[in-house]
Amino acid sequence: MATDAAETPSWRVTQVLGVQVAVADDVLLAALELKQRGGGQIVTLNAEMTMAALANPELGAAIAAADLVIPDGAGVVWALKRRGYRVRRSPGIELARALLEQAAQRGWRVALVGASPEVMALVSTRLCAEIPGLNLAFTLHGYQSPEQWPGLEQQLRQAQPDLVLVALGVPRQETWIQRMHQGQPGLWMGVGGSFDVWSGTKQRAPQWMSRLQIEWLYRLIQEPSRWRRMLALPEFAWAVLRRG
Ligand code: UDP
Repeated sequence: MATDAAETPSWRVTQVLGVQVAVADDVLLAALELKQRGGGQIVTLNAEMTMAALANPELGAAIAAADLVIPDGAGVVWALKRRGYRVRRSPGIELARALLEQAAQRGWRVALVGASPEVMALVSTRLCAEIPGLNLAFTLHGYQSPEQWPGLEQQLRQAQPDLVLVALGVPRQETWIQRMHQGQPGLWMGVGGSFDVWSGTKQRAPQWMSRLQIEWLYRLIQEPSRWRRMLALPEFAWAVLRRG
């Protein structure tokens, strides 16, 4: 199994608007397989990010080079369904949490990068209390001064973490990870606003909104300043329909 796995991943790769996305039966198993194969970058793709990738070549290149791109978001799942792929929506926040549980069970060294200093302090304490055995080897908030980053990045590399969760927002977290994970053995994953949610600072949309696939509306009500970014959603739907 180990030798076969080193050659061919067990998931298939297809595209949504030309952006790669994996079709996997179980995204956690796929991530664990990736770790066994030497680690790499995990991206959680939604409609907004797909459109951002088409507009921003640096983000597009980071996603193209990523090792596992999971369909996070009703829009991406819908676009895949139109092309005959039945996949379940895999919210990145849930995969990230499942990976933290695995890390505790397997004795992995974990690094958390990003979010405000207050959120990072809260989330570190909470996660250690909620996940027994979690080894938080390195934490770094996301508002360091530009001069501080190179030294801190060096410390992070030296810590040789098995799992690095990065909350710096899109596109920065993806491009930062692409640069940082080269030559590193761990799993590196962008997690957007997950630390804000785990710290209790922000709420996830209630289940009923998620079932109706209107989580975007909840997010818009919580953060009205996102409206301009959310125009990407109808643009995405239109682009998918136009492609037929
Ligand atoms: N963030 C950060 N440094 C920055 C900008 C943002 O650490 O310079 C953090 C922010 O505090 C939040 C996370 O990035 O915890 C994700 O932000 P957002 O919810 O905007 O994510 P997106 O929707 O862009 O993935």
